[in-house]
Amino acid sequence: MTATYDADLQLFIAGAWRSGEGREGRPVYNPATAGTIAELPVATAADLDEALAAADRGWPAWRAKTPDERAALMHKVAGLIRERADHIATLLTLEQGKPIAEARGEVLSAAGLFDYFAEQGKRIDGRVLQRPAGQRAMVLKQPVGPVAGFSPWNFPVNLMVKKIAPALAAGCVVIAKAPEETPGCTSAIMRCIVDAGVPGDAVQLVYGDPDMISRHLLASPVIRKVSFTGSTAVGKHLMKLAADGVKRITMELGGHAPVLIFDDCDLEATLDKVVWQKFRNAGQVCISPTRFYVQQGIYDAFVKGFAERTAKVKIGNGLDADTQMGPLANARRVPALEAMVADAKAKGARVIAGGEAGDGGYFFQPTAIADVPLDADAMNNEPFGPMALIRPFGTEEEALEQANRLPYGLAAFAFTENGRRINRIADGIESGMVGINSFVISALDAPFGGIKESGFGSESGPEGLEGYLVTKAVHIY
Ligand code: NAD
Repeated sequence: MTATYDADLQLFIAGAWRSGEGREGRPVYNPATAGTIAELPVATAADLDEALAAADRGWPAWRAKTPDERAALMHKVAGLIRERADHIATLLTLEQGKPIAEARGEVLSAAGLFDYFAEQGKRIDGRVLQRPAGQRAMVLKQPVGPVAGFSPWNFPVNLMVKKIAPALAAGCVVIAKAPEETPGCTSAIMRCIVDAGVPGDAVQLVYGDPDMISRHLLASPVIRKVSFTGSTAVGKHLMKLAADGVKRITMELGGHAPVLIFDDCDLEATLDKVVWQKFRNAGQVCISPTRFYVQQGIYDAFVKGFAERTAKVKIGNGLDADTQMGPLANARRVPALEAMVADAKAKGARVIAGGEAGDGGYFFQPTAIADVPLDADAMNNEPFGPMALIRPFGTEEEALEQANRLPYGLAAFAFTENGRRINRIADGIESGMVGINSFVISALDAPFGGIKESGFGSESGPEGLEGYLVTKAVHIY
């Protein structure tokens, strides 16, 4: 199947779409072909200053709207996203590579986020404290203020909206720096926001040099809150910049999810789930299952079943209906994964499926590696690609110790039919999210976020809204 890349790539600043006009451009690639498909205009320092001034001007009017008024506009955005879902999903697949059905699901999830937070914004309330007659003390929740939101390319639509929707619902305004790799789908979402009638200085959209933009925005006193999704290294850097202005932060950073497979699990059903989940979005998922610890009694059967299923995963252009895994989004991940495979092999691991780059675009074969030693690079640093690492374990204590050995703590999974063990694992695993017998851990109404070096704060659910609110105590005598 072919499709046209009819993206309208512009910045949206102070209520106006902007492109060209002497701005530098940077190429946008189709990762399935490695061909250039467009040129993206890049924000200048003057653009950012205008965006900051507009955010500063626009915030009082947006926060003065009633929750019902804000919700009505946000529901309209959700409706437009649903109407335009096929177009936005096609742009997403052309820029990022994921299978079109996954792209469509992501776009629809963004519509769901607007609907969810539109309603959640009506539930912001405070407390009145008991005081002697004639006196009062109140706890108020108020919008934190203008937000700088930085979102990545792996779920470009969903992760940008995860910042914009709760911020708007809380009464904040947002300057979004969307990913330069995937600007067509994020600009199309911005069109929905503008066309729905959200004021032009309540949400603005920029692209450019990430380091220049984040330094510029975070140095401004206008920005009161920083929300970032991306790697732990960049997150630490942004936390330091935010510290200078004591700005609030939400950080969704890297992960290296362990999966504990116990010998009392339903092995065939477990294998079906884990293989599909591992190669979803070519493994470029912060909660992607990566370290598979398998109990000795079923280790060989698990390795065999994993290899067989992995070999059957159909890779190709995400626009083809039968493609199950597309290319990587960035050329730079291909040599990074090759180096991890070579390192694991040199240290004694067995490649049981894949292990090599594919042909054409930025393809890498669905890869499974067994008997991976703990000192292999991939066991310690996030592969962020289609790579499963498998090791045996003996006891539950050993499995928990292995699961907790890295500084990451985003997602963890366990497969077992033992009810008491489920409770022990839910208690003992060091992770912001835990999936038992399932990988479905992302939901509109549930907090999504990590602990340890995987991040700070949550997105989605009431906790996601809380991140855009500050608390004020008022004492009246
Ligand atoms: P990267 O660290 O270069 O970039 C990650 C994201 O951060 C990109 O969107 C990038 O534009 C942005 N970024 C980079 N420097 C920035 C800066 N100074 N200011 C603001 N934004 C900045 O990594 P990458 O090669 O693009 O992706 C691979 C790594 O990123 C993975 O190892 C993974 O940990 C992480 N990642 C995590 C998520 C997630 O959902 N948590 C998403 C994408 C990438």
